[in-house]
Amino acid sequence: MAPSRRLFLKSAARGALLAPITFLRNDAARGEEPALMVSAPDPKSGAVKRTSGEVLPAGDFLREEKRMIPVAGKSDVLVCGGGPAGIGAALSAARNGAKTQILEFAGCLGGVWTAGLLTKILDAGNKTGIMRELLTALAEQGSDVARETKGTVYDPELAKRVLEEMCVDAGIEIQLHTLVVGAIVDEGNRLVAVVTESKSGRQAWLAERFIDCTGDGDLAAHAGCRFDVGMSDECECQPMSLMALLTGLDPEAVAPYIRENGADAKPRFLKLMREAGINPSYHAPTLRHLHDGIFSLMTNHEYGVSAFDAAAISKATINARREVFDIVAGLKKRGGPWANIAVVATAEQIGVREGRRIKGRYTLTAEDLASGMRHPQAIARAKFPFDVHALELAGNPEEVEEYRKRGVKSYDIPYPALVSADVDNLLMAGRCISGDFLAHSSYRVTGNSVPMGEAAGKAAALSIQQQVMPHQLEWKTAQSG
Ligand SMILES: Cc1cc2nc3c(=O)[nH]c(=O)nc-3n(C[C@H](O)[C@H](O)[C@H](O)COP(=O)(O)OP(=O)(O)OC[C@H]3O[C@@H](n4cnc5c(N)ncnc54)[C@H](O)[C@@H]3O)c2cc1C
Repeated sequence: MAPSRRLFLKSAARGALLAPITFLRNDAARGEEPALMVSAPDPKSGAVKRTSGEVLPAGDFLREEKRMIPVAGKSDVLVCGGGPAGIGAALSAARNGAKTQILEFAGCLGGVWTAGLLTKILDAGNKTGIMRELLTALAEQGSDVARETKGTVYDPELAKRVLEEMCVDAGIEIQLHTLVVGAIVDEGNRLVAVVTESKSGRQAWLAERFIDCTGDGDLAAHAGCRFDVGMSDECECQPMSLMALLTGLDPEAVAPYIRENGADAKPRFLKLMREAGINPSYHAPTLRHLHDGIFSLMTNHEYGVSAFDAAAISKATINARREVFDIVAGLKKRGGPWANIAVVATAEQIGVREGRRIKGRYTLTAEDLASGMRHPQAIARAKFPFDVHALELAGNPEEVEEYRKRGVKSYDIPYPALVSADVDNLLMAGRCISGDFLAHSSYRVTGNSVPMGEAAGKAAALSIQQQVMPHQLEWKTAQSG
């Protein structure tokens, strides 16, 4: 049973929770010039502390003068990123008695589910716990389609509300519109603070345990953890895709093209597009019926875009949005059931399939998946196939195709793959856990990300209560506790 907050504090108080963080103490701060003391704008007047610094003579850098960063929050467990993994992590940490904070860059919780307009939850059928709870909520509160698909085809706008409600009910502190931009690690190899940027300026956040659920592994990278990106040293990554919501279609008239009606819906839709003179950058266009007159569309690939390059992501987003509108205009021209098609919304955030895979205490490999690996510290069982969206328009390298042909046997996701190898009080969940390129193409889907988050959140809370580091916690014991 989840401990009450009071019990949690009692057991944690004997350990590290209340230990002074000497690394951050700066008695000299009292003697700082007032101009350096705070970098946050005043919330009432809007007055800001102006930036001081100088542009270096070569014009390639700006040296900023040092400033004091206010501590905005202290929690037991700090979850960075409020996507599917972050939701699982925060709910589970909070329900296990930890004071929990989520920091999220977007204006809503849910990550690719909501800001990315995903609309489909994969590999969730065999899951229990928070994943099952979420599917039930999305089905019960959703449309007929959501009910028929047991919540796996969902309305992203409803998902925003459901996730907020669950997190608020669990007592989780949530700060949206907030980007993690730095981290401080002490001499003992422990994260002590995260630094963010937002409309409130630069802020610092303290915690006992940190969980990187940013998808891209931003927190772990800032904490100095080792990581891999893409397939090779060249960082070849899967393409990004911009999702869209559509209206103006009759579900019966376009039934042959709706993904849920059969595997041949995608090739049929591609054929129709090509006959209409449309050549989409993603050759398996996916149309989903969400409810009444609302559909979702995935038909775009942006190749060779780095998840860590805001300028490149911006260009890709603009290009993708243009393509979505062009495709819809092309379908409309075709007439018949497509005559009234219109775009309702495009995703605020282009879908990023790959960022950093952070080095953990176990690294899931393609071989593990192909052989159906069993692990004594399994946190979930996954069975989604290798799903590498072509790295370039020409297709995938042979190695990828070989594994795709071999296929995946249902496999265990081991707890140590969620535990950072380099920073002791840091866990990961979602697509940034420790795995190789091909394994990632399977475990990354959201039906796995939520249980990963749930395990990381529970481990974070229990490790504080038991006064051990997450890597010293036996997942089997944690599970039965
Ligand atoms: C186009 C596309 C289609 C897909 N289709 C499916 C599908 O049909 N079904 C399925 O189950 N999976 C699908 N996937 C895979 C799946 O969406 C991801 O692998 C999954 O979202 C991983 O969950 P996550 O929580 O790790 O990451 P994300 O969903 O990416 O969430 C990460 C969160 O962290 C936030 N964040 C990032 N950086 C920072 C930072 N520095 N500071 C603060 N916050 C930050 C982001 O805003 C986001 O909310 C698809 C992915 C893409 C891109």
